[in-house]
Amino acid sequence: MSVKEKQKKVAVIGGGTAGYMAAAHITKHFPCFDLYHIYDSRIPTIGVGEGTQANFPDWLEQITGLDFDELQQRCYVTRKFAIQFENWGTKNKQFLHNFHPIKKEYGYHISAKSLVNLLEEHVSATRIDKKIIDIKSDGISVHLTFEDLTKLDVDLAFDASGFPKALPNSDSTEISLIPTNAALIHRGSAVDFNSATRSIARPYGWIFIIPLTTQTSYGYVYNNSINSISEIEADLNQFLQEENVKPLGEAKHLTFPNFMRQTFFDGSLFKLGNAASFLEPLEATALGVTLAQICYGSHYLKELSEFTDRSENFAPSKVKASNEFLTTMLWKVALFVGWHYACGSCFDTEFWHFAKSNFNQEMKNLKNETLLRTFKRCLEAGSDLNTQLFFPKLDSFRETFAGFTPASFCEIGYGIGYYS
Ligand SMILES: Cc1cc2nc3c(=O)[nH]c(=O)nc-3n(C[C@H](O)[C@H](O)[C@H](O)COP(=O)(O)OP(=O)(O)OC[C@H]3O[C@@H](n4cnc5c(N)ncnc54)[C@H](O)[C@@H]3O)c2cc1C
Repeated sequence: MSVKEKQKKVAVIGGGTAGYMAAAHITKHFPCFDLYHIYDSRIPTIGVGEGTQANFPDWLEQITGLDFDELQQRCYVTRKFAIQFENWGTKNKQFLHNFHPIKKEYGYHISAKSLVNLLEEHVSATRIDKKIIDIKSDGISVHLTFEDLTKLDVDLAFDASGFPKALPNSDSTEISLIPTNAALIHRGSAVDFNSATRSIARPYGWIFIIPLTTQTSYGYVYNNSINSISEIEADLNQFLQEENVKPLGEAKHLTFPNFMRQTFFDGSLFKLGNAASFLEPLEATALGVTLAQICYGSHYLKELSEFTDRSENFAPSKVKASNEFLTTMLWKVALFVGWHYACGSCFDTEFWHFAKSNFNQEMKNLKNETLLRTFKRCLEAGSDLNTQLFFPKLDSFRETFAGFTPASFCEIGYGIGYYS
């Protein structure tokens, strides 16, 4: 038997940011596998996702070996130290949600397209440019069928093929805590203020401003069952005029589901990125969650690389525990993001009435008592923090809520006026 035949086969499905992140990560950390990177280049990627969390810079530098200046040259990166909220809640005109130095005190703003181009240079895999028409997984191996009816069987596959084609479905849970489901995105030229993402409440939703060195993204996030696209276009245009921004090129309109899979991993198929879950981009959590998913999936890759047969860590009870962990992580992120709407905004409009009442109602509908207790504890820790000396105390906090520290709760809670 040749070496190649003995190697275990791993596939990554998807050529978007999540797929390339997974493929580059496996190339770097698990060169022992026979890696297949599969996507159909006729199916476009979502092409957005430019704000990242503090877990991203170190990971990217490790994968590419490039320092900040080199990344800036290649991907127009700026350092993101915070999100600046404007007009959120009814108390403060403006407040910051900073990154707190648990890992790094900043994330990146990064060009989604250039990031994929860069990661491509760090993927070593058999590239298959075909449409997959069927994925069957029995928890031990994954059987892929392509459009031309050829097949490929692999030991483990990461499915990063983007939003599920039909939602709701029996393997997904809708996250109705989040009141938005669509976005209109424009680009403009570079701006001077690029050390934070701006998140500006508007009558029909909110606008993100993500500044790269060469250009800036403006995204109006809203609910299309409350407001029409023409209302959003008019308000975004007015905002751009107020900011003296001349839009570059055509606007892009996207709708998105807020959902998570009921099964992220079944023992051989691991769902990743938008194929696994999605939440509106208010805290720019998607790539951070994807990275956390990849790191979590790496435990299984390690097991697979070290044992000839499947180790006991692939036992159904362990796989079930993994799903519970990944589900809880997503619910924590959803609760934290949904909470931003708890006090509405300075706008007395249908969207903000809905956003506020929806949060309160959905909190009542939540049945997971443990999760709610943990959330409440973090709310209390955040509230207490304001009475203490802020930064010197940070190191002493052990409990985070999917990475959000009591300091995050403090800044958002006092910022929106949730804490009196
Ligand atoms: C408005 C908006 C703003 C966002 N902002 C942020 C942000 O600031 N920060 C952040 O972290 N995230 C953000 N996101 C999320 C982010 O864009 C995504 O999480 C990220 O791009 C990952 O996408 P993906 O790779 O999972 O899917 P996609 O980009 O959709 O890629 C899917 C891939 O799968 C392939 N594919 C699909 N079906 C098949 C098939 N049958 N056979 C073969 N190949 C197939 C496609 O060709 C494609 O390559 C935002 C999302 C939205 C909607």
